[in-house]
Amino acid sequence: MIMERMNETDKTEYDTGAQDKAVGAPGQIARSQGGKARRIGIMGGTFNPIHNGHLIIAEDIREKTGLDKVLFIPSGQPPHKPGYEVADAEHRFEMVRRAVCSNRHFEASRIEIDRDGPTYTINTLQELRESYGEETAIYFIIGADVVYELDTWREYETVFRLCDFIAVMRPGFDESEFSGMIRRLSAEKGARIHPVPSCLVDISSTDIRERCSTGRSIKYLVPEPVEEYIIGKGLYRGNT
Ligand code: ATP
Ligand code: MG
Repeated sequence: MIMERMNETDKTEYDTGAQDKAVGAPGQIARSQGGKARRIGIMGGTFNPIHNGHLIIAEDIREKTGLDKVLFIPSGQPPHKPGYEVADAEHRFEMVRRAVCSNRHFEASRIEIDRDGPTYTINTLQELRESYGEETAIYFIIGADVVYELDTWREYETVFRLCDFIAVMRPGFDESEFSGMIRRLSAEKGARIHPVPSCLVDISSTDIRERCSTGRSIKYLVPEPVEEYIIGKGLYRGNT
């Protein structure tokens, strides 16, 4: 499921042009926010449920880029979509909490699930900027699928000013399209997106929900305490 990816030649594909040649190198990422004292990563998502792909990527990026910690922020409850089961925010938060508690560099955050109404990244970043202050650099870790959605985010131009992005590939995405999208967002919208070579992990929450709904195993796809929670609460047994 996990393939260490990209040889040295491939890495040039990831050059955004606007950045250093050694794109994704820890030094370059540190300089991108003027060598701030503290650097935190954010993993945001529905986490419906959190899986080992999220954890593997977050730990790899934390280590490679020297982040002090990674905050896992489950989103507030999205509006109901027929045929798509989103577990209650408290279940999703509890699964995130169980998944991250054994890593002292990871933290589960209630910032979005405790907010009333729809949750937007812009509000989260503004709150985090307030509480951490200007001396903390914020790096939002995203998978390839999210790179394509970034310029649909609410007030995305302000979002691009408030944080840097670290982007990783996901299986099924085209590398040259991925690089092209990053170049476009950097050149045209002023986004600071650092593609960082990481592991290709073929795990998704969609697949886990499908497995649960058809009674198949999710062992080794999610941490054991998350597996126990899903089974114990009978989550994702209906349609996905
Ligand atoms: P779903 O299938 O329900 O969309 P998901 O597996 O994509 O779930 P999300 O909670 O939507 O998980 O993702 C949160 C963040 O983690 C996003 O930035 C997403 O791109 C990233 N991500 C999720 N799974 C992976 C993976 N296997 N490799 C790299 N990034 C991932
Ligand atoms: Mg997703």
